[in-house]
Amino acid sequence: MLTGVVFDIQPFAVHDGPGIRTQVFLKGCPLRCAWCCNPESHAAAPELRHHRARCHTCFQCAAACPSHAIEQGADGLPRIDRRACAQCATHACIDACPNDALAMCGTRMTPDEVVAAVLKDAAFYRNSGGGVTFSGGEPLAQPAFLEACLRGCREAGIATAVSTTGYTTPEVLDAIEPLVDLFLFDLKLADTAQHAFWTGVGNEPVFRSLATLASRCPEKLVLRLPLVPGATDAPQNLATLVDRLTELGLGAVQVAPYHGLGADKYADFGRAPPMSPPPPDAPAVRAATVALRRRIDAR
Ligand code: SF4
Ligand code: SF4
Repeated sequence: MLTGVVFDIQPFAVHDGPGIRTQVFLKGCPLRCAWCCNPESHAAAPELRHHRARCHTCFQCAAACPSHAIEQGADGLPRIDRRACAQCATHACIDACPNDALAMCGTRMTPDEVVAAVLKDAAFYRNSGGGVTFSGGEPLAQPAFLEACLRGCREAGIATAVSTTGYTTPEVLDAIEPLVDLFLFDLKLADTAQHAFWTGVGNEPVFRSLATLASRCPEKLVLRLPLVPGATDAPQNLATLVDRLTELGLGAVQVAPYHGLGADKYADFGRAPPMSPPPPDAPAVRAATVALRRRIDAR
C-alpha cells in the first residue's frame, strides 16, 4: 500500500496560497539551507524528537529503552543514540516519559487519510477561495505519494497548491504539474556555486523546473525569495535573479524575510544548529523589495 511520511497537518493556514487552506507538511528535503528553521522536515523517515525544554531529567526514558540508547550527556540532559532509534520497534521511551518530552516526528499516512483530513474543512475552502497546500520539506521528494494526494484532492473538488524549492526531476514535474493549481516557488541564489554553498546543492534542477513551468503554465507560478542577510540579499544576487527571470518571461517576486526562529529545534533532533544571522530589519526588506521591483519594472 502506498504511504508517505507527513510531519504536520495545519488547518486554517492563510499565508501559503489564497483563502483559508489546510497545509500538509511532507517530510524529507534534498536541500540543507543554512538558515532553515524546520529541522524536523529534513530527514525522510519518522524520527524521535526530544523536546529539551520539557525535559525534567528523570531518565525514566533511559530505564525503559530496550536498546540502552539513552545516557546522560555533559549538559545533564538525555543523550540519545539515534542510530539505535532508527532500528527501534518499540519506542518505549515515549510511553515512559511523564512529561511528553519525547515524540515521533513524522507519521506514515495513506493518500486517502491525507485527503480525508483535508476534506474536514472543505466548507471553509469554498467560502474563502482556499484549498490545500502541500509543503515540506520538499513535497516533490515524495513524488508518488504527493501525486496520489493531489489527485484525491482534485477529485474531491479541492484547489491545490504546492510549496516547492523546484529541486526535482523533469519526470516528477511532468507528473505533478497537471494536478497543481498554484506553485509557490522559492528562489534563493542565482549562482549555482553560491547555491551549493548555502543549500548543499547546485541550482540547475531549480532553474530547469522554473523554465518548464514558465513555458507551460506561468499563471500558476508565485515566486518567493527568502531574504537572508549575507546570503540571498546581496545586490549581485538580486540583479542576477531578475536577469534570469527576465530570460524566462517571469516578473514579480515576493520577498519573505528570514525570521531566525527555529534554531533551538536542531538540538531536539541531536543536530548542530544552523548559521543564524540576525533577521533583516524592515528597511532591509523594503530595500530588497524596491531593488527587485525597480529592475523588473526597468526591463
Ligand atoms: S526510540 Fe527506541 S531505541 Fe530510541 S531511545 Fe526510544 S526506546 Fe530507545
Ligand atoms: S523521561 Fe522524559 S522528562 Fe524524563 S529524562 Fe526522559 S525525556 Fe526527560
